[in-house]
Amino acid sequence: MEKKANVIVFDLDYTLWPFWVDTHLLEEGYELGVASRTSEIKGAKQLLDLFGWKKYFKYVEIFPGSKVTHFLNIQKSSQADYKDMIFFDDETRNIMDVGKLGVHAILVRDGVTRQVIKSALQSFGK
Ligand SMILES: [Mg+2]
Repeated sequence: MEKKANVIVFDLDYTLWPFWVDTHLLEEGYELGVASRTSEIKGAKQLLDLFGWKKYFKYVEIFPGSKVTHFLNIQKSSQADYKDMIFFDDETRNIMDVGKLGVHAILVRDGVTRQVIKSALQSFGK
């Protein structure tokens, strides 16, 4: 049987926007989260709310600083191993930091698309 991730985490700016949340991911039993280092904490949360996306995300970590901290929190809440998490982000520094934890970290150049998610899930299972 192919290995499956437990938690899938998205950066917000330039990664998730524009993004249509694929509810299919939830149906398949993945838990979703967002990790953003924006200092516009209130604004980012309002946007999640405005787009009606808040309900999709079990883990919401929005505050400045290294995303290692965001993932420490997500690990604590989810009790999932880092190696069972996938993370999408458009900045190399975040991919490097979070990747060092053992998370399957994927650099996204032009936003998260259905194809990006699909190939990430496939490469994770191998
Ligand atoms: Mg970003």
